[in-house]
Formats: sequence, structure tokens, C-alpha cells
Amino acid sequence: MQTQLIAARRALTPDGRLAPYWVEIAAGQSGTAAAETPDAGVGRILAAGEGPPPRTPDLEVRGILSPGFVDVHCHGGGGHSFAEGPQQARQAAAAHRAQGTTTLLASLVTDPLPALRESLQSLAPLVEAGELAGIHLEGPWLSPQHKGAHSEVFLQPPRPEDVADLLSTGTVAMVTLAPELPGGLDAVRQMVSHGAVAAVGHTDATYQQVSQALDAGASAGTHLFNAMRGLHHREPGPAGALLEHGSAFLELIADGIHLHPAMLRLIFAQHAERAVLVSDAMAAAAAEDGDYRLGSLLVRVSGGEARVVAADGTAGAIAGSTLTVGAAVRFAVQEAGIPAEQALTAATANPAAMLGLDEVGSLAEGGRADLVVLDEEFRVERVMQASAWVG
Ligand SMILES: [Zn+2]
Repeated sequence: MQTQLIAARRALTPDGRLAPYWVEIAAGQSGTAAAETPDAGVGRILAAGEGPPPRTPDLEVRGILSPGFVDVHCHGGGGHSFAEGPQQARQAAAAHRAQGTTTLLASLVTDPLPALRESLQSLAPLVEAGELAGIHLEGPWLSPQHKGAHSEVFLQPPRPEDVADLLSTGTVAMVTLAPELPGGLDAVRQMVSHGAVAAVGHTDATYQQVSQALDAGASAGTHLFNAMRGLHHREPGPAGALLEHGSAFLELIADGIHLHPAMLRLIFAQHAERAVLVSDAMAAAAAEDGDYRLGSLLVRVSGGEARVVAADGTAGAIAGSTLTVGAAVRFAVQEAGIPAEQALTAATANPAAMLGLDEVGSLAEGGRADLVVLDEEFRVERVMQASAWVG
């Protein structure tokens, strides 16, 4: 088998440091072939190690070598949203892939239940083919008090039969819910027993209610601090419970709009091993400013900032971001001063661990050959997915 040796003086090692490192992969294979023949080693990292490479490398990375990015919260990109249908979903995923995201959950915003079911079914072939790592339902089981860019009329408490119905499609990898809604804790247990990540978000829950949800199996906070009751010294709220609970993953939108850089520094200083950089991107990510639809809402993007357009035409709630995870890494390192190895881990190994995926998010031998080559300024230069250069 023909192989390709790639070496870097700075690469994210499987234990989360930046050090000289090399990987050897099967050369010139397509991603699809890889998915079908995993035993042949095609699409995998065949060998890897720290220090100087065993022979002259075929590619010497001048900047930084990272595992492919893993985005657990993404509504669209490249002008398309995941709710539009499979063809548009492929284009959205491709727009993010070109920017380094090689593993992606497609997030769906609140819609009527039949519309959500239809979206889940239409995206099922992409999940089965491995083009999407699964689907993230953000709603409809959210709090009207913190609806953000979700249509209030479709928000509702989680009824067991509705939860069972949507989970039965076999495509749901994660659900964001407000655990204080009637039936919320039972819904958490139901989701976890189906193997889906239950994430607390768009919530007005108290500290105690979120602690109960975490004890019931919830394992993440959706865009920490955004669309949730605030942190107060006498009522620590959802953020207090999520920060304190040792095993909850913390989604962060590092775009300079959703979170002050100081909040990123506070969180990474204490909880870097649980930080997860997400894009929460809507269709305008890796695309132009302009008017877009997010679920049933109109969103106007200006200067990269997305806001719901209210009935009177004024700008309303922030409606996701126009980030990619690569852009979030760059912001975290260059604008917020987060150590590069921590920012990269929060874009790779941490989200992979959050989803329970052990084949991605690391440059270790045996993993999927998903690589991102970054320049010294943390700009994405090249992207490999399952041994194939895709961007
Ligand atoms: Zn949200």
C-alpha cells in the first residue's frame, strides 16, 4: 500500500500538547471508500509518533497540524441550512469541511413536530453514510423565557411519546432542552437511554434544577451563558451548575459577540478539559451578509453578526453565529489569549469525547485520518478527511 508521511514541528499530540509529531496514512484514497473498507486501514492513521519522523516526510507542515475539527452545534453554512433538505445539507457540510470541520452534527432549530420528523428522515441517509455524525435537536423543548432565535409558538414541554417518536428515527445524537419544563427530567433519562447526549440550554432553570438534570444524565450545556438564566451569587443558575459539575461539557461560542473574551479565559483557566468550541453557525457562515431563514424566522446578517428581524423590522435576538470552528479556534487563541493547545483540544478531542466518538478528534494511530493544517496565524490551509484532501 502506498502511504503518505506527514510531519509537523508543532502538532496537537493525543495527550493535548503541541510537539513535533508525524502521522502516516494511506495515500490518495477517497473518504467514501474509506468508510466502506475500514479494515484495510484506508482512511485511517496507520502509524503516528512524537519526535522526528522515521523517514523524509512527504509533507512537512510549517505551521500547526491538528486533528480535524468536530462541531457539535451547527445549523448551516455556505448559504444553506440543514433544515432545507439533503442536498443543501451536503453543501452546508462542505462549506464547514473546507474550513477544517471533518465531523459535524447538523442542528435543527424549533419547528412543529411533524416538520422536525420530516427533517430527521430526510437527513437520515447522510447520517447513515457518515456525512453527518448525527443530528442535534435544539428544540422544541425549550423555555419561552430564553427562546433566543426559536419560534415561541412551537415551544412545548417534552411529552414522552413525542420524545420517543423523534428519537425512533435513529438519527438524533444530541438534544438541547430546558430541564425545568414539565417532564424535563424524565425526558433527560429517555434521551440518555437512547444514547443521545442531553444538553441543558435555552433554559430558565435554577441551579438546583440543572443539578438534578445533570444527576439524571444530562452531560452538556448548550452555548454556556447564552440563552440561559444568568449567573448570580445567590442563585448560580444553569451556568453555575454546569461549571461546578465535574463531567459536564461546556459549549462556547468564541466569536467575540456571544461571550466576552474574559469569560473564555475564566472558563479555560479552570475547565479546559470540558470546554467545547462550537460554531452554532447559521447559513451565513462561510457565505455573504444578507437575509436568511432560520427555521421559521427571518435573520439579517450584517458584518457577520446574525440577528432575528422583528415584526417591526428592528433587530432582535442574536441568531447563531457566522463562525466556523476553525474561526473560533483562531479567535480564542489570537483575541482571547487561550493557550493554542487548549483551544485546539476544545475543537477536537473534547467534542469527540462529548459525543462518545473515539475515532475522531485525535492524531493517534488507528483513528480516522482527519487532519487540518493551520498556518502560524491559525488560518486553515489544508483539510484532510479519511485520507483524502478535501480543502
Ligand atoms: Zn441556541
